[in-house]
Amino acid sequence: MSSTTQKIKCLIIGSGPAGYTAAIYASRADLQPVMYTGMQMGGQLTTTTEVDNFPGYPKGTDGTAMMEDLKNQAERFGTEVRFGMVTKVDLSNKEGQAHKVIIDNTTEIEAQTIIIATGASAKYLGLESEQRLIGGGVSACATCDGFFYKNQEVIVVGGGDTAVEEATYLAKLCKKVTMLVRRNELRASKAMQHRIEKTKNLEVLYNTELDEVIGDNVVEGVRVVNNKTGKKQEIDVTGVFIAIGHKPNTDLFKNIITMDETGYIITKGKSTKTNIPGVFAAGDVQDKEYRQAVTAAGTGCMAALDAERYLTTLE
Ligand code: NDP
Repeated sequence: MSSTTQKIKCLIIGSGPAGYTAAIYASRADLQPVMYTGMQMGGQLTTTTEVDNFPGYPKGTDGTAMMEDLKNQAERFGTEVRFGMVTKVDLSNKEGQAHKVIIDNTTEIEAQTIIIATGASAKYLGLESEQRLIGGGVSACATCDGFFYKNQEVIVVGGGDTAVEEATYLAKLCKKVTMLVRRNELRASKAMQHRIEKTKNLEVLYNTELDEVIGDNVVEGVRVVNNKTGKKQEIDVTGVFIAIGHKPNTDLFKNIITMDETGYIITKGKSTKTNIPGVFAAGDVQDKEYRQAVTAAGTGCMAALDAERYLTTLE
């Protein structure tokens, strides 16, 4: 542990659209924020290629480029962006007192306000064979790993917008993509469903679930099961992409901050306030309903304003 404790006004945890927007507003309000980015700098959008629905980009933009723009904008107003993980929090101090946070098990920080913008992570099915082959052909990010399956056959598990996005992206690279959808219909929006209709090398198997990923060290195929008939079949694929939703990154705050039954942080009313004074939550970590970059950015802005107002009341 470092011998000196850094005292700051505003700590931002997480570097997605919520974190960077909070940083832009907090730095412009002279809160001199320090941001810890987490391991995936830029958050989930860096695993997306095209972002077509963020206002202000008439021709769409690239997720990684957009996050770099947001970072530059936050730094322009004085945000200190640091690569690192928050490994422990002590939020037991009373209103007006600083909260203690440990970074990478070594550095201690005392922050008067904390904005939690740690986002959410991809969920997996939990099959033994799936877990064993992560990195050996099982992935939750087509834009990160799709390139390795050029001209090969892959499956995508899930029927939501993410699954369709992943599947249509992979269809551009792969010989064939098969989507496994557990119900007899997709959850994805109509606009996304049209993408499937337009994609020739994409097949959807309804009422179908992944039973096992076949292969010792690398994926050689999958066994799938029709949940209506019980009939099993094997499909030869080299890649398995899991796209079944996300889990909020809140383990660090368990039993400290009030959460719902699925681990999303509960914020008070229309604000970003958590149950702990001086601690605010923004973005996907507190939103399981909208989960869009633009709504995350909106709540990031709100969190910075809430933090500023909280500090003003202490003066
Ligand atoms: P969703 O929760 O919307 O969909 C998850 C999908 O995975 C559903 O089809 C669900 O099936 C299926 N699923 C869940 N668990 C399992 C399981 N154990 N086995 C098999 N299938 C399973 O998550 P998404 O990540 O797709 O989307 C999250 C949010 O992000 C949504 O609001 C979406 O609109 C948004 N989004 C928007 C995009 C865009 O507009 N460009 C792109 C990507 C996401 P079931 O339907 O049966 O529950």
